[in-house]
Amino acid sequence: MLTHNEAMSKHCSLRAGGLAQDFFVPETVDDLADFLKHNQKPILMLGLGSNLLVRECGFKGVVIALKNLNWLNIFDGIIHTGTGTSLAKISRFCESQGLHGAEFLSTIPGSVGGALAMNAGAFGAEIWQFVKSVTTINALGVVFERYKKDFEVGYRQVYGKNEGEYFIAAAFKFGQTQKQQDIKTLLAKRRATQPIGQANCGSVFKNPKPHFAAKLIEGANLSGFCIGGACVCNKHANFIINQNNASATDIEKLILHIQQTVKAKFSIDLETEVVIV
Ligand SMILES: Cc1cc2nc3c(=O)[nH]c(=O)nc-3n(C[C@H](O)[C@H](O)[C@H](O)COP(=O)(O)OP(=O)(O)OC[C@H]3O[C@@H](n4cnc5c(N)ncnc54)[C@H](O)[C@@H]3O)c2cc1C
Repeated sequence: MLTHNEAMSKHCSLRAGGLAQDFFVPETVDDLADFLKHNQKPILMLGLGSNLLVRECGFKGVVIALKNLNWLNIFDGIIHTGTGTSLAKISRFCESQGLHGAEFLSTIPGSVGGALAMNAGAFGAEIWQFVKSVTTINALGVVFERYKKDFEVGYRQVYGKNEGEYFIAAAFKFGQTQKQQDIKTLLAKRRATQPIGQANCGSVFKNPKPHFAAKLIEGANLSGFCIGGACVCNKHANFIINQNNASATDIEKLILHIQQTVKAKFSIDLETEVVIV
């Protein structure tokens, strides 16, 4: 389905953002390939919008939401999934199949596609550790099978050696050994440390190792500091919450203020983890 002037605030967990000129939701990979063959506009792939901020000026192109590419099955112990599937669903499915290692995914509110693009991770694990292969599609609608060797994978960043390809499916190999982590315990840890129920995008900044972004922001006395409706979360200083109808501009101004204050106090550059478009 193709719509126009779609408010990205409806599709991003920060509940802020400008309009997408075009907004396309393919039902199948064939549908997507057919659309791409005829598309000339810039493309922004959208998973569940849990790490994305679209500026007030909007996106002059087509946002493609892959949420309907959400099939999920298992064959010979390998998980096969579309990249629109939520990470929580993968985690529960693995548990139901007696597979281990996917527990951490239950704590990350994104899709497989967004997680592959960001190398999402939590509780000592990252998604690319478990990738067997991925299926990609390029802007012309051509589909490829790719492997880990085709990507440079780092801390919350992934570069494809073949540029301009998007993730449409993935195969994962999780373990059959003894259970390492318990989903309920991990979710309880999250509830204790994160602002559940308030609009946010998770960690705004990458940790500038060996430091922790949250500690630096707290150390700069910025907990609770607000610009417009955007505030530094008191519970977790590396989170920005949309407390009171914040605009994308409020959020971006707050990001910049945090970066400048931390730089002035500690001489450390904070790099954003949230993708700003
Ligand atoms: C409460 C909360 C907690 C979080 N905790 C964590 C955490 O512990 N660890 C962590 O790593 N992250 C965390 N995040 C951030 C976020 O959930 C992850 O980065 C997640 O993987 C993003 O997935 P998404 O589907 O929402 O991606 P989106 O936000 O939709 O997109 C993110 C980026 O990926 C690109 N993208 C999306 N789909 C595709 C695709 N199919 N092909 C190519 N590029 C694509 C987008 O263009 C964009 O650049 C958290 C977020 C929230 C709100």
